[in-house]
Amino acid sequence: MIRLIKRILAIVPTIRSQMYRAALLKALETLFMGIPYGILIFMLHDLLSGSLTASNVGFYTVGIALSYIAQGIFCWLFTRAAYPAGTELCEKIRVKIGAHLRTLPMSYFSRKNAGDTTALVSDELVMLTLLPRMAFPQFICAMVMPIVLAPFLFSVDWRLAVAALVPVPLAIPLLKKCQQALSKGMRKRSDSLVTISSSVIQYVQGMEVVKGFKQGGERFRSFAAALARFKRDNLALVFSTTPLMLAFQALLDLGFIILLVFGAYLFLGGETSLFAYLTFLVLGLRLYEPIKALGSVYEVTQSAEVTLDRIEALLKEKPLKEGTEVAPREDVGIDFNKVSFSYDQNPVLQDVSFKIPARKITAIVGPSGAGKTTILRLIARFWDVDSGEISLGGVPAQKLTAESLFSSLSMVFQDVYLFRGTVFENIAFGSPEASPEAVYTAARMARCHDFITGLPQGYETQVGEAGATLSGGEKQRISIARAILKDTPIVLLDEATASVDPENESQIQIAINALVRTKTVVLVAHRLATVTSADQIVVLDGKGGIEGTGRHESLLETSPLYQRLWNSRQEAQSWKVGAPAS
Ligand code: ADP
Repeated sequence: MIRLIKRILAIVPTIRSQMYRAALLKALETLFMGIPYGILIFMLHDLLSGSLTASNVGFYTVGIALSYIAQGIFCWLFTRAAYPAGTELCEKIRVKIGAHLRTLPMSYFSRKNAGDTTALVSDELVMLTLLPRMAFPQFICAMVMPIVLAPFLFSVDWRLAVAALVPVPLAIPLLKKCQQALSKGMRKRSDSLVTISSSVIQYVQGMEVVKGFKQGGERFRSFAAALARFKRDNLALVFSTTPLMLAFQALLDLGFIILLVFGAYLFLGGETSLFAYLTFLVLGLRLYEPIKALGSVYEVTQSAEVTLDRIEALLKEKPLKEGTEVAPREDVGIDFNKVSFSYDQNPVLQDVSFKIPARKITAIVGPSGAGKTTILRLIARFWDVDSGEISLGGVPAQKLTAESLFSSLSMVFQDVYLFRGTVFENIAFGSPEASPEAVYTAARMARCHDFITGLPQGYETQVGEAGATLSGGEKQRISIARAILKDTPIVLLDEATASVDPENESQIQIAINALVRTKTVVLVAHRLATVTSADQIVVLDGKGGIEGTGRHESLLETSPLYQRLWNSRQEAQSWKVGAPAS
């Protein structure tokens, strides 16, 4: 338990005084819970020795009543200290995890880790609130009670005291065994909880495909299998630990029976007084309660250990290394110098070098899967290169501060993510100091002002989770407004494929033109018009290298791959729905 508390305090040191205060208040509450029993023993003594008087009874009654009041007060104070401590513990850990996640490379955010982190932050962490408000105080009581009572019991009759305490050391090994079984079972159960979270994420994220292509069966099967595994692991945990827990409690109950029989034997044999016998019978019923409670304390602490393992592992994940330099604000070109990169074992770029000139538009083209989007991600340092270097304005990206890198770039990607919040907040995201006027101007330039003012609450309209209530084109224009407002020297753009209607498309094009003026633009181009008007085109060969760089006209002459790509796009563009097949 001490180790566990130390681990918690290492993560959230500020909770220390609250934890200790809660435990102290619980100990005082327990003390006042025990005092009426003590008074009862004094009464018994008076009764048996014939010295009980009316005033004594009054005195004892007041004492018992005051103890109840004090117990109530300490219970209230304990609740006031322990519950906020539990909530604060969770909140602080969540904030810490959130801040840490932000520093991690994108390679961390695989599906498995997304499920893992979701389960950890939403479900598992909640268990930790039980530490300050239940497990830790109960543990203190279980330790304090026997220590306080033992000297008194020994002074009344040492033989009965030994008999009363004998089951405790015998029961502890059982508790340890139970603890081991709990630890193993909880780890398994927690793993299956993570699997459930991952499959829920996959199932829900893929819902469009599931519905559209009637592919639900396979995904649902893996979700159902995860649920079945969780059920199995949960039952295994309960069935493996309950007998041990019952045996532990039975051994302590046996202690009371030993006391009963052994006390009767001594009393009837004239070896001990009626007072001593009765004292042990009265206290014997209470003596084991806090120790019995250790069973449920260990249930909580084992679960907390598993959760803490996960938290510590996550917090140990190495953040992207940050540098100390600051990128220039004007005329920022980008250099790729012998860059190689692979996702896990899947090589995408090999020894690639090219220059992206400042204040010019560079289009990246190449076969599907050649690494076009990857190039944008590498510039933004979502991932780090395996070897080689990417420089921004002459400074290697890894030497820049995260803040400098962030404020040099804006991104308009196909998968636009809007946060839960108002439209206004979504545009101002990344430029928290922007005035409302600046936000409106950016929205006008990005051609979103009109549709925003048509929304029920205008700029104050809440957008659903991940922007679910806006159309794809509208979301993209909001993200362009966000980028215009941020006004960074570099713009990374993944042009929308044919997913928007023509009206939206022309609006988006106007918005993009407003954004890219005077910027260094790197774009994954899907539209022919963009490609032909780009200042430079980089053609990826789909084998990890570059086939050529240049303008449209020269590449048409020098690059066979570019010619092929160009021809196939032209063909695609000339297709008409409903045109007779030739
Ligand atoms: P493009 O944009 O040219 O179509 P990408 O840059 O998206 O290509 O992807 C290049 C290759 O890397 C593809 O084979 C793709 O499957 C793979 N890939 C892309 N993203 C990831 C990822 N997050 N994890 C693993 N592999 C990925």
